[in-house]
Amino acid sequence: MSFAASVLTLYPEMFPGALGLSLAGRALEAGTWSLEAIQIRDFATDKHRTVDDTPAGGGAGMVMRADVLAMAVDHASPPGDPRPRLLMSPRGKPLTQARVRELAAGPGAVILCGRFEGVDQRLIEARELEEVSIGDFILSGGEPAALVLLDAVVRLLPGVMGNAVSGEEESFESGLLEHPHYTRPQEFEGRPIPDVLTSGNHKKIAEWRRAEAEKLTRERRPDLLRAAPLR
Ligand code: SAH
Repeated sequence: MSFAASVLTLYPEMFPGALGLSLAGRALEAGTWSLEAIQIRDFATDKHRTVDDTPAGGGAGMVMRADVLAMAVDHASPPGDPRPRLLMSPRGKPLTQARVRELAAGPGAVILCGRFEGVDQRLIEARELEEVSIGDFILSGGEPAALVLLDAVVRLLPGVMGNAVSGEEESFESGLLEHPHYTRPQEFEGRPIPDVLTSGNHKKIAEWRRAEAEKLTRERRPDLLRAAPLR
């Protein structure tokens, strides 16, 4: 069973974009996942193929129309489609590695990319869209956010990452940020690799990494420690 992504967008040319290269690109070619980019404008009904209109109540910008989007969503996600319907949105629940894992374990996702000021609220309610944010900043459109989400999901699909262990030790997987990394040369601009890492003592190395991860997390992301107390 492969992960099936359908992306609804005004810019289908943005896909697969970066996901056509490297690990994700190879997995796409291998059929580990599939990607369908659907042009929302194809579902407009007037001769100008209008997808947006002025905001009710006035104000700047344009809003994507519920009726046009509903037809696009219904096309991508017909009744019985088991895939979650996501709307990329700065007002959504912040994306976490836990949610990424859930998505990767599922059949795929239908992802709606907003543009302009966003989408008509009635569409979100009527099609029960799950709003997902990739952080507290504003993008010009949902497409880069969808690429970010899919990148995070695809690397977890079976067979995509060569070394599965490295996935489990990643930042956030243990509730901590990851320890620092080093590689050759042994000395760089007067800075040596920490002795313990070249000692060959695997227990000491594991302890050092754990301590560094805790220290880094305490300094940079104390919120993670509060959310998941140390084992
Ligand atoms: N007026 C909106 C922002 C619209 S930005 C507001 O203030 O909330 C246009 C589109 O970009 C959004 O509809 C959404 O699809 C996407 N977008 C912008 N920032 C995002 C973020 N942080 N996470 C996910 N999607 C985002």
